[in-house]
Amino acid sequence: MSNIIQLLPDHVANQIAAGEVVQRPASVIKELLENSIDARASRIQVVIKDAGKTLIQVVDDGMGMSLTDARMSFERHATSKIKLADDLFSLKTKGFRGEALASIAAIAHVELRTRTENDEVGTCLKVEGSQVTSQDACVTPKGTSISVKNLFYNIPARRNFLKSDNVETRHIIDEFQRVALAHPDISFSMIHNGNELFQLPVTNFRQRITNILGGKTNEKLVPVEEDTEIVKISGFVGKPEFAKKSRGEQFFFVNNRFIKSPYLNHAVTASFEGLLKEKSYPGYFLYLEVDPKSIDINIHPTKTEIKFDDEHALYAILKSTIKHSLGQFNVAPVLDFERDSELDTPYDYKNKQADVPQVEVDRNFNPFQNESSRASQFSGGTNFRKEKPAEWESLYSGMQSETDTDVDLRQIEFESEEVTGNLFGAKEEQAEKSTFQVQKKYIVSTLKSGILVIDQHRAHTRVLYEELLKNITVSSAVSQQLLFPLRLQFNAHEVEMLKEIKDSLEQTGFIFSAINKDEVEISGIPTLISESEVEILLEQLLADFEKDVPDNGFSQTDLLAKSLANSMAVRSGTLLNSAEQQHILNRLFACKEPALSPFNKTVFTTLTVDELDKKFA
Ligand code: ADP
Ligand code: MG
Repeated sequence: MSNIIQLLPDHVANQIAAGEVVQRPASVIKELLENSIDARASRIQVVIKDAGKTLIQVVDDGMGMSLTDARMSFERHATSKIKLADDLFSLKTKGFRGEALASIAAIAHVELRTRTENDEVGTCLKVEGSQVTSQDACVTPKGTSISVKNLFYNIPARRNFLKSDNVETRHIIDEFQRVALAHPDISFSMIHNGNELFQLPVTNFRQRITNILGGKTNEKLVPVEEDTEIVKISGFVGKPEFAKKSRGEQFFFVNNRFIKSPYLNHAVTASFEGLLKEKSYPGYFLYLEVDPKSIDINIHPTKTEIKFDDEHALYAILKSTIKHSLGQFNVAPVLDFERDSELDTPYDYKNKQADVPQVEVDRNFNPFQNESSRASQFSGGTNFRKEKPAEWESLYSGMQSETDTDVDLRQIEFESEEVTGNLFGAKEEQAEKSTFQVQKKYIVSTLKSGILVIDQHRAHTRVLYEELLKNITVSSAVSQQLLFPLRLQFNAHEVEMLKEIKDSLEQTGFIFSAINKDEVEISGIPTLISESEVEILLEQLLADFEKDVPDNGFSQTDLLAKSLANSMAVRSGTLLNSAEQQHILNRLFACKEPALSPFNKTVFTTLTVDELDKKFA
C-alpha cells in the first residue's frame, strides 16, 4: 500500500493558521497597533476604508525594520521579541508568537514600507497570499507603514461571513479604543472613509479617557490608586449615578494590555454594592501592574483572557481599594434607590384611622378532616397558570374585531362592588369599573366564564411592540416636535450604533437633526414618550444592541421594537386609572399574539367559574 500522508503546502498551512489570528478586520487593527507599540512608536495613524474590508493601514514612527527583518517579518514564527522559552515568563511586549504578519499576508494584499533610523533608504515590500511579489528600496519616513488590502480575497467564505460595515466598524472602534486607552503616552488617530473618527494627542490617562468617551466623562471619574506587593492599581471608576445600562465602558488593563476578566469584574461590581440602581453597570478604567511572571497570557489565542497566580488576593485588594476610593470621594450611598413603591401609603389613606381587624373563627374547622381535599384545592390553584396560550381566543368566543371586544367588555358587570367599597373606601368610583388593579401590577377583569388577570407591563409591552413593528415596517409614526432640540452625549461606539439604527428609529417618531462625533441632536420624539425619558430609553436600546448584535434587517427591527416597547411600557408599580386599564385591555386583545409578551412570557391568565367553584366546594 502506498503512503498517503503529505505535508500541506505552506500557503495552505498559512491560510488555516491565519483563521485563528484574523477573524475580522478588527483583528488586523489590533495586531498592527500592537506591533507599532512594541516598535516604540510615539505616533500611530490608522486609515480604514469600508470597515476595513477594502483597506486597513497603520502608520507608525517606531523603530522600523532593516531589509532582512522586513523580509523575515512575514515568516511564520518569526519574531524579534522572544528568543528562549523562558522569555515567555517575563514578557514586556504585546506580541511574541511571530504569527500576525504571516497570517495577515496569507489572506490579503499587503504593502509594507519601513525604514530604521540608521538606514538612509527604506524597504518597500508587496506580499500577496504569502508570496512576495515585489521588493524595492524606497524613500520613506522612519518607522513602518503597513497597508492591508482586500482582506480574505482568497477565502470567499470568510469574506462573506463578515458582518455589515456598521458592525465591523464597531469592532474596529472597540479594538482601537482598548489600545488607545492603555497608551495615553502615544498619539493616535483614526480615519474611516475620509472621516476623522479619533484624534488623540499625547496626554494622561484621565484626559485620554475623556477624549475617547467624550465631553462630560471627566466629571464622572473617581480616581483609584493602590500599591501593594502583588499588584499596583491605578485608574478610575465612574461615579455610581452615571452607571450605564450597558457594560460598554468597563476596561481592565493588565501590564498595559486590555483583558477581560469576569472574576475581577465581579470584584468591582461588589465594591459598588448598594450604590447602583438595578441593572446598571458602573464604568471603570483600571490599570493593574503585576509581575509578568505571575500571569499567563498564553491561554487564549487572541490574548484577552489571562490567568493570574493569585486571583483571590487580587480580588480582595481590588474590591477594598475601590470601596475606599468611593468613600473618600464622598460618593455616599443613595438609600432611596431600592425603595419599593408598593410600600408607599396611598395618598387618601394618610389621614385615616386604621381599621380594627376582625377575627373570624371557623367553628366547624377540624384539622383531621378533609386533608386530601384541601391539598387538591391548592394544586388546582396553580394549574390555571399553565393555560395554553392559544386558548385565549375561546375566552372571547364570538369576538372578532376590536369594537366587538369593546362592547363586550363594557357589558361585563363589575360583580364585587360591595367588597371593593369596603376595602378601598372609594365606593362611588369603583362602582362603574369593569376592571380593577391589584398591587399596581395586575389588571383584573371579569369574563363570561370567570376572571381574567393581566400583567400590566407585559400586556402593554405586547401592544407597543406590535405597534412599533408596524411603524417601522409599514407606516411611520408621527412625532412630537421639541421646542428646544435635545442634545445627548454618546461615545464613538454608541454613535456608530445609533447611525446603524437611525432610519428605523425615525420611523418610530424620533427625528435626529444632527449626529456628531460624540453628540446627537434630537428635534422630535415619539408621541408616547416624554422628553425626560429619551436618554434612558436610548441608553437601554444601545445596551440591548450591544448584548445582542443583530446581523440582519429583520432581527434588527425586531430587537429595536422589543427594546423600545419594553422601555416605554408601563411598569409594575404604576397606578392606572380605569380608562388606562381599559385601554390596555382592549388594545391587548386587538393584538396578533396577545397571550405572550415579545419576550415569550405569559401576559394573562384566567380563573374559570369551575375552578372558583372547586375552591368553594
Ligand atoms: P510578533 O509581534 O509576535 O513578534 P508579528 O508577526 O506581529 O509577530 O511581527 C513579526 C516581527 O516583525 C516582529 O517581531 C517585529 O520584529 C517586526 N515588526 C512587525 N511590525 C513592526 C513595526 N510596526 N515596526 C517594527 N517592527 C515590526
Ligand atoms: Mg505582533
